[in-house]
Amino acid sequence: MLLIDRINVFYDSIQALWDVSLEVAKGKIVALLGSNGAGKSTTINAITGILKIKSGVVKFAGHEIQNLSPHAVVESGLCQIPEERLLFAEMSVRENLELGTYVQRARKGKSRKIEEMYEMFPRLLERKNQKAGLLSGGEQQMLAIARGLMSRPSLLVLDEPSFGLAPVLVDEIFKIVKNINGQGVTILIVEQNIYQALELADYGYVLENGRITLQGTGHELSENSYVKESYLGM
Ligand code: ATP
Repeated sequence: MLLIDRINVFYDSIQALWDVSLEVAKGKIVALLGSNGAGKSTTINAITGILKIKSGVVKFAGHEIQNLSPHAVVESGLCQIPEERLLFAEMSVRENLELGTYVQRARKGKSRKIEEMYEMFPRLLERKNQKAGLLSGGEQQMLAIARGLMSRPSLLVLDEPSFGLAPVLVDEIFKIVKNINGQGVTILIVEQNIYQALELADYGYVLENGRITLQGTGHELSENSYVKESYLGM
């Protein structure tokens, strides 16, 4: 479904990604792992058109998308949930959800889709008229994910959805991601919470200093001695 072939990305003259390649097969959960500053956000921002790539190819559902605007990328069915969540704090939960349907592909059946989101996230139903800025961290993350789902993506890219959340909420977010995948949405997830991400993922890539240094199934990576030592503290 998503194929990234040797992309190179720069911030001005400083290279941040070197020949990064990865694949996400339809229906799977793929994790992109690495420590602070490894280049994870740079990689997904390059996939979703927020950052321009210097060379390489990003193919989604058979089409090259590396020259598309972020808006056109969402329209094609690829939606990113940013780490910062970027909710509209002064707007209600429901209004934030409605904004998720600004793309053409999502305009039909908007009310039904909002009801689906309330079924998936009952907390959002309870708080539907509350301002997004007054929600807890976990609720804000749920709203950011639900708003992304409103665009009816076939591939959802999540940038550190567990960031800043208490452990019990982290577990809930991981369950939600599994549930979304169970409903047919392919997932690319960026995480620093490596142990849980590997339990969830079908396949994973490790990014270090802007390069993919390891890849394998979730099980293979969690059994890998380098991953254990460097990332799992074992
Ligand atoms: P984190 O988990 O801390 O977000 P990350 O793996 O997502 O880390 P990136 O944010 O992609 O890492 O950063 C990769 C490299 O690019 C780092 O060296 C970072 O300092 C640099 N970088 C990121 N954003 C910019 C920017 N806007 N301008 C210049 N350099 C940047």
